[in-house]
Amino acid sequence: MKSISIKTHSQFCMINITSQIQNIVYESGIADGIVRVFVPHTTAAVTINEGADPAVVKDIIKELDKIVLLRDNYLHMEGNSAAHIKSTLVGASEMVMIENGSLVLGTWQAIFFCEFDGPRQRKIFIKVIEG
Ligand code: ZN
Repeated sequence: MKSISIKTHSQFCMINITSQIQNIVYESGIADGIVRVFVPHTTAAVTINEGADPAVVKDIIKELDKIVLLRDNYLHMEGNSAAHIKSTLVGASEMVMIENGSLVLGTWQAIFFCEFDGPRQRKIFIKVIEG
């Protein structure tokens, strides 16, 4: 298993990690298989969406804020329940197929690390599996 360390610089952001995942796939030497990307945090997530127009991730962040209110008389005393809920909605892992050493993604797709309670130091675990 490999890992990536990432420092986020704002409370909410989505960081394109596609090239870092692709590099780990290249370094593994595995030409065909799958790569699993896992975020070991309860207030962050990973997702696949459009990487071409940066307005898309801004819209996603903005609309998630409307779905999950920052303050809503949450019981969790740490004060970051909205981030926990967004983490569960978006999810902690993604899986991408590998063909001829390359990630199989749609033309506009990219892999994003999602920060919902930054800024923080974060980790992402990556496992490349042959098959
Ligand atoms: Zn918390």
